[in-house]
Amino acid sequence: MEIMTGHTCDSCSFNGTLLEVVQHNRKVHVSDKTDATSCCICSGRVLSCNLRRHIRNCHPDDCAVRCYICSEPFVEDKDMRNHVRCGCLNFLDHCRPDDVNKYISKHLQTDAAYRSECSDVVDRVDTFFEDCEGFTLDRFIQGGSIGKGTVIKSKSDIDCVMFTSNLPSIDSPDYSRQLQFSLEWVEDKLKESRLSIAYNLEVLGRTSHAVKLRVKTKKKGHESHDVDLLLATDLLGECPTQDKKKKVYTMMGRMSRSARENCSAALVELQVAFVKKQPAEVKNLIRLVKMWKASCVWEPSLTSYPLELLCIHTWRPHMSVADAFEAVLRKLSDYRSIYTYWSDNYTAVIDHEEMLSKRPLILDPANPYNNVADRCRDWDAVVEAAEETLQKPFFSRY
Ligand SMILES: [Zn+2]
Ligand SMILES: [Zn+2]
Ligand SMILES: [Zn+2]
Repeated sequence: MEIMTGHTCDSCSFNGTLLEVVQHNRKVHVSDKTDATSCCICSGRVLSCNLRRHIRNCHPDDCAVRCYICSEPFVEDKDMRNHVRCGCLNFLDHCRPDDVNKYISKHLQTDAAYRSECSDVVDRVDTFFEDCEGFTLDRFIQGGSIGKGTVIKSKSDIDCVMFTSNLPSIDSPDYSRQLQFSLEWVEDKLKESRLSIAYNLEVLGRTSHAVKLRVKTKKKGHESHDVDLLLATDLLGECPTQDKKKKVYTMMGRMSRSARENCSAALVELQVAFVKKQPAEVKNLIRLVKMWKASCVWEPSLTSYPLELLCIHTWRPHMSVADAFEAVLRKLSDYRSIYTYWSDNYTAVIDHEEMLSKRPLILDPANPYNNVADRCRDWDAVVEAAEETLQKPFFSRY
C-alpha cells in the first residue's frame, strides 16, 4: 500500500508535505516563475509565482505555519519570517493613520549604512570598467530606487547605466546585435573578476538590455540589492539643455518601436532626477505604496515606476501621507480615469496628440513615447487589490 504523507502533486504522483510538494512543483514542473501551474490541493491553475499566496488565501487550513503577530497562514517558516521582516503583510491592521509616519520610518526606511554598502559595490564595478582594456566607459550613473531616494527595506532595485562609445550609432540597424555582444562581454568580465571586485557580488545573468547582479547585504532585516547594469550610448550627455532633449525626442519619433526601446537606457538619468527632486513626504508616500504593492498586489506586471509617478501626480502640499495613500488607491480602483503627464523635459513632440488620447495615461516625464500605464497587463487585479485595501479599518475614519 502506498503511504500518503499529506499532499500529492497535481501533475505526477509525487507525495509529501505541503512544502515538499510546492518545492517539487517549482523544481520539476515549472521553468519560469510566470508559468502557470496547478495547485496540489484544488487543481486550480495559478501562476507559479502566486502559488504560495493562492494556498495561503484559499487553503489556510492546510498551512502549517502562522504569523505570530497577525496569525496569517504560511506554507513555510521562511515566508512567514519574510512577512514579519517587511513589517507584517497586514500592516494596515496594525497601523493607525496618525502613526503612519512612525510606521514608515520604523519599517520601511533604510539606514544610511545599508545604502552606502550597495553604493560601495557599485562604485567598484564602475572603477573596474574604467580600467578595463578594450572598453571605453564614458560615464557611469546610478538609478533605481536607491538613486531616487525611494528604497524600502524589503526591496531595493538599482539601475546603473554605463555609457560607452563602443556601440555603433543608435539608429544603426546593427545596434541591437552589437549591444548583445557588449552585454555578453560585460557579463563574462564580471564573472571572471567577481571576487576581486567585491566578495558579496553575484552575477545572475543577462536580459536584452542589462546584466543582472545581486549585492548581498550583511545588514539584518534588509534584503539583498538587485542591480541591473545597463549599457547605452550617451544620447543626452551630462546636464542636457532643453534643445538637446528636443533633438533626441525628435529623432526617437522617427524610429521604429524596437529601436526606440534602445534609447530608454539613455533616459534613466532624467527619470531619476524627476523622482529625486520630489519632497520628502512624496517619497514616504511612494514607500508606503510600494509596500502595499509588495504585500497586496498579485499582478507582477505592475512595476514601481508607474506607481511612483502616480504618487507624484496625486500628492498635494499639506496633504497627510494617509490621505494621499487613500487618494492613490481610489485612483487605482478607477484606473481608466488616470490621466497625467509632465512637461519638465518635453512639450509637443511627434505623435503627441495621439499619445495624449490614451487612457489610462501615465506618460513618462523622461520619454514622451512611453505610457508607463501600458505595462500593467491586468488592471482588474489591481482594482481588486485597491478596493480590498480601502475596506481596511485604517480608512474607516471617513
Ligand atoms: Zn510532480
Ligand atoms: Zn488551490
Ligand atoms: Zn503578520
